[in-house]
Amino acid sequence: MTPNQLFTPETTLDSVLGTATARKVETAFGYVTVGEMLAHFPRRYMEIGELSKISDLPVGDDVTIVAEVQSVNQRRMQSRSGFLLEVVVSDALGPDQSTLRMTFFNGFEAKRDLQVGSTAMFSGKVTIYRNHLELTQPDYSLLDTAADADPRPIPIYPATAKFPNKKIRDVLALVLAGVSPSGFPEFIPEAILETQRIPTRVLAYENIHRPQTVGQGYAARTRFAFEEAFLLQLALAQRRVYRLQQPAIARHGSSDGLLSAFDKTLPFTLTDGQITSGMEISADLVRGHPMNRLLQGEVGSGKTLVALRAMLQVIDSGGQTALLAPTEVLAQQHYQSIRKLLGSLGAGGELGSDPRATRVDILTGSLNTAQRKKALLGAASGETGILVGTHALLADMVSFVDLGLVVVDEQHRFGVEQRDAMRSKAETPPHMLVMTATPIPRTVAMTVFGDLEISLMKSLPPGRAPISTHLVPLQIPKMQQRLFTRIAEETAKGHQVYVVCPRISEKTAEDDFLPAAADPESEAPAGDGPPKPASMTVEKMMEILESMPIFADTEIRALHGRMSSDEKFEAMQAFDSGKAAILVATTVIEVGVDVHNATLMVIIDAENFGISQLHQLRGRVGRGGLPGTCLMATWLDADHPSVARLQAVESTTDGFILAESDLNERREGDILGASQSGSKSALKVLRVMKDAKLIARARTTAESLVAGEVSLDSYPGLQSAVEAWVDEDMQAFLERG
Ligand code: ADP
Ligand code: MG
Repeated sequence: MTPNQLFTPETTLDSVLGTATARKVETAFGYVTVGEMLAHFPRRYMEIGELSKISDLPVGDDVTIVAEVQSVNQRRMQSRSGFLLEVVVSDALGPDQSTLRMTFFNGFEAKRDLQVGSTAMFSGKVTIYRNHLELTQPDYSLLDTAADADPRPIPIYPATAKFPNKKIRDVLALVLAGVSPSGFPEFIPEAILETQRIPTRVLAYENIHRPQTVGQGYAARTRFAFEEAFLLQLALAQRRVYRLQQPAIARHGSSDGLLSAFDKTLPFTLTDGQITSGMEISADLVRGHPMNRLLQGEVGSGKTLVALRAMLQVIDSGGQTALLAPTEVLAQQHYQSIRKLLGSLGAGGELGSDPRATRVDILTGSLNTAQRKKALLGAASGETGILVGTHALLADMVSFVDLGLVVVDEQHRFGVEQRDAMRSKAETPPHMLVMTATPIPRTVAMTVFGDLEISLMKSLPPGRAPISTHLVPLQIPKMQQRLFTRIAEETAKGHQVYVVCPRISEKTAEDDFLPAAADPESEAPAGDGPPKPASMTVEKMMEILESMPIFADTEIRALHGRMSSDEKFEAMQAFDSGKAAILVATTVIEVGVDVHNATLMVIIDAENFGISQLHQLRGRVGRGGLPGTCLMATWLDADHPSVARLQAVESTTDGFILAESDLNERREGDILGASQSGSKSALKVLRVMKDAKLIARARTTAESLVAGEVSLDSYPGLQSAVEAWVDEDMQAFLERG
């Protein structure tokens, strides 16, 4: 390497570092190029300005100290292989002689670097171990003398034992020496850099790795976060423009068709949210481009009705519609409630039906051959106006004459391919309406669902009673007793009760979508904290309830994903009709189930469920004007980390607040589902919640730049940055909407 050699992002590291070091970088981090190495950003910075004195270290805080090594001692570990390096240091600042112990597990590097008498800057969290303050596994940086402490912040990188922080800094110094604007041209237009007050690319690389001040380091981070958000928003804006250029059949409806007939028979008035969403959807349908809209509304806000009215508008225009539900139970419920809502208007093909009537049909995997044939024929002949179904709708043999609208309920359970499979059933792209009860904070909506238009329904239909939520500590025997009495009180009033358990039986793991053979271990309750009794099963709870004298005259049913669909249907019917007063179920009832007379939701071993699941479950009660109660029972102590989640759910019924606390708990990778697919998260710097304002700015900026053009002709550098960035991972990510 010559000193003035200039790099591009593609320059290989072995040409910069030599083969040996390059190989080590690749082993440690998987990086091969200069561009990848430069994107290895520090986790944080350590700086002199925040030095603490050993004598007043606050327990639990992150601190930085400058100290001198007094002793180094190596011990074998008894319980596992490896060794523990204990380093005792004393304050190198001033006369204070306090000492502090530090421990390093398998501290090979520390053992080499930290000799008695050497001075270093240490940084880590203060803990108490056997009554002494201690830093465990601190970051450190060797100094020649205490006085000589570098006044500049020291970046702390994600590092490995074999490739520690110091070495990363050395490698980056070599790389940064060859980085110049000619090899790393700026692709963000200058005017945008100025209004956003962010440094250029090259300067940002320098400043994130070697800042003069911590502030400079964070400003550089902002540049990269903005860059990510901006490229993402440009890609999304281009997709929106592209979609608007695609043809779709406009569905104008008719002034005296099914929709107007239906509206006249409606037994209630639409909520404000239903009216507004309905108008937004209706306006989309009459345009000659495919609608791609997300209908977001709290549990019980009446999304089905909004979807049904949209379907009727399409049917009035001669088209057919499909409603895709994630589970058999839900498909059945949609079918039943649509039939009920439409009355004779939905009895098409049956004797004595209204002449305007359309045919509503259901297609699920469990139909017998004759039923399936009938459903397939109805769709293929064009006679069926509304086909409700599960994944079975996606099969190749399902065809329509003119599929104009696809409604997807609870979209988080469907992937890109499935929506594409539905799209491909029409010659011209159909309109698409996606419904979800999962509250999506604005910034997530702008990223994860970036190219969907959003209709939001905040209001619930009138007559919804409030739901009160309580934690029930099961360690207290009196509380266990109280739980069952509470159930009995409710059934005595003629009301109905759900009892939700995490698992079906001792033998298997529960999940509607897991094969029955799934490994129960993998479904183990969230692994933090001490072991607890195995979580409750539907089978066990059935036994318990059925053996209790107070329930001797009460009809109790079970519902879970391993029952046949006939059994499920029968159980649901029994509960729906009020014949069964108690339904013991798994989370199959999480979405959509709608029984107005149900007033109590009991969730056993509630820590097994996530925030949004608990919120959804709770939304199953209080739907018919009777106040609802949700009891979340747990064996865990109140200060157990998992109980915080339950307390969050207990403290508010606002789904948006809950969604945010849910997201704050998780990394953005989880939000994007990247962690499930095993691919790397497409967003490396950006944090969906923390960078909310920045994402909003990036979106406005991207929109004004794209403004009707699919390609950024006047910004070729930017266009290729977008294209380079939208790789396969990203493509899948973008299409999650
Ligand atoms: P979700 O949005 O959770 O899917 P649903 O569509 O299941 O909610 O509606 C919940 C219940 O509210 C249904 O029984 C439905 O018939 C009823 N409902 C819908 N809209 C209204 C309204 N405007 N007034 C009264 N009840 C309504
Ligand atoms: Mg619903």
